[in-house]
Amino acid sequence: MSRIDERYLSARLNHTRLSRRELLRGLLRPVTTSFAATPPLRQQREIPRPPQAQEESLLVQLCCGCGACATACSNQIISMEQGLPRLNLEHNHCDLCLACTAACETRALIPELPAMTGLVPVFNDNCVLSYGEPCTLCQEECPSQAITLPSAGLPQVSIENCQGCALCVQSCYVSGCHMLSQPS
Ligand code: SF4
Ligand code: SF4
Ligand code: SF4
Ligand code: SF4
Repeated sequence: MSRIDERYLSARLNHTRLSRRELLRGLLRPVTTSFAATPPLRQQREIPRPPQAQEESLLVQLCCGCGACATACSNQIISMEQGLPRLNLEHNHCDLCLACTAACETRALIPELPAMTGLVPVFNDNCVLSYGEPCTLCQEECPSQAITLPSAGLPQVSIENCQGCALCVQSCYVSGCHMLSQPS
């Protein structure tokens, strides 16, 4: 078993939500395959992280603070803060290219998780729709068809479809929306 596998297994064993069945599977099979089947979970985060980051308690244990994910991000939206990668979508969007995951050697970011940041856009009264002007920019830019424009009122987002990329926010010329942690 490699040192990375040992660290990953140790973190999983310390994880409070590890089930007994998962523990047995983990002890009976090679680590890299035994946990690969972890069902996709939409992450709920206090602090924004790269799209395929493990949930916070695991991320803290697995991330070695190497910064390889930040270096790999051509959009420069990952910064290292307190030894952990933080996602910043204020000035650029996430391509969901997953280069950050590919660069991570400790499985703090893993390809088995869905490619989504866990953030969603929240719309405000700056949106021109709120005073009857037409606009479809954010809807057109959304790669997931997650935005619908009602006949009256603010745009609406489907949390199920939204990947949290912030392209909608970057497309808006009046600051009509911003990204927030997904409401539970
Ligand atoms: S998925 Fe791509 S654009 Fe998004 S944070 Fe990772 S490297 Fe950057
Ligand atoms: S590449 Fe992985 S281990 Fe390195 S800082 Fe990023 S998340 Fe942490
Ligand atoms: S791009 Fe901005 S102004 Fe246009 S509909 Fe979307 S939030 Fe409203
Ligand atoms: S964050 Fe991305 S996926 Fe979500 S509504 Fe905006 S453009 Fe669509």
